[in-house]
Amino acid sequence: MKKITIAIDGFSSCGKSTMSKELAKRIGYVYVDTGAMYRGVTLYCLRNNMIKGNEVDEEALKAEIDNISITFGIDEAGTQYLMLNGENVEKEIRGMEVSGKVSIVAAVPLVREAMVALQRKMGDSKGIVMDGRDIGTTVFPDAEMKIFVTASPQIRAQRRLDEMRSKGNNEVTFEEVLFNVEERDRIDQTRAVSPLRKADDALVLDNSNMSLAEQDEWLMNEFQKRVTE
Ligand code: C5P
Repeated sequence: MKKITIAIDGFSSCGKSTMSKELAKRIGYVYVDTGAMYRGVTLYCLRNNMIKGNEVDEEALKAEIDNISITFGIDEAGTQYLMLNGENVEKEIRGMEVSGKVSIVAAVPLVREAMVALQRKMGDSKGIVMDGRDIGTTVFPDAEMKIFVTASPQIRAQRRLDEMRSKGNNEVTFEEVLFNVEERDRIDQTRAVSPLRKADDALVLDNSNMSLAEQDEWLMNEFQKRVTE
C-alpha cells in the first residue's frame, strides 16, 4: 500500500493530537506533535529569561538557537514525550506558563524556520501524521491528506480544562483556559509568518458535536480513500 503524508491543522485544543495519535497507531504511521516542539523552544526561552512580557529577545534567541535540541522519546507504554536538550520536559511544556507564551515564540521567524526544517526531515519518507497549524500550508504543501479541525472556543476550553484536571492540575479556571485558547487563536491567525489558515485543498472537520469514535471513523474513511485511489 502506498505511503502518504497526513497534515492535521486547526485551532488550539481541538483534539488534534488525540485524533492524530489514534490515526497513526491504527495505520502504523509515525506521529509528530509539532505544537510540542514550539512548546519546547518556549520553555528554553523562559528558562533563559528571553521573554519579557509579550516580547521575545530575538537577538538572544538567535545566538542560542543552535544550542536548542528538540527531539522525541517514547516511554515503556509507547507514549511519546518531548525532550529539550535530552531532558524529558513533557509535563512542563503543558502548563499554563508555557501555554501563555508559546504563540509569541512560535511567531518568531527564526524559530519557525528551524522547526519547519526539522519537521520536513522527520517526514521526508512519508508514512507520517503531523499535527500543527501550518503543516498543510507550509511544511508539507503537497501532503496527500489535509484536514483542518475546528470546534467552538467554549467546547475547546472545556476539553483543555478536563485534560489538565485529569493530570492533576486543579488551580486553573475555565475562564483562564478560555482566554488562553482565544488569545492563541488570535495570535496564530494574525502572525506574519505562516499564519494559521485552512489550506485550499484541506477538508474541514468540525468536531464540536462528534464523539471520538465518530471522528476516528471519519478519519479512517478519508485515509482509505486516499490510499486505495
Ligand atoms: O498544538 P499546541 O496547542 O500544543 O501548539 C502550541 C502553540 O504552538 C500554538 O498555539 C501555536 O502558537 C504554535 N504552533 C505553531 N505551529 C505549529 C504548531 C504549533 O505555531 N505547527
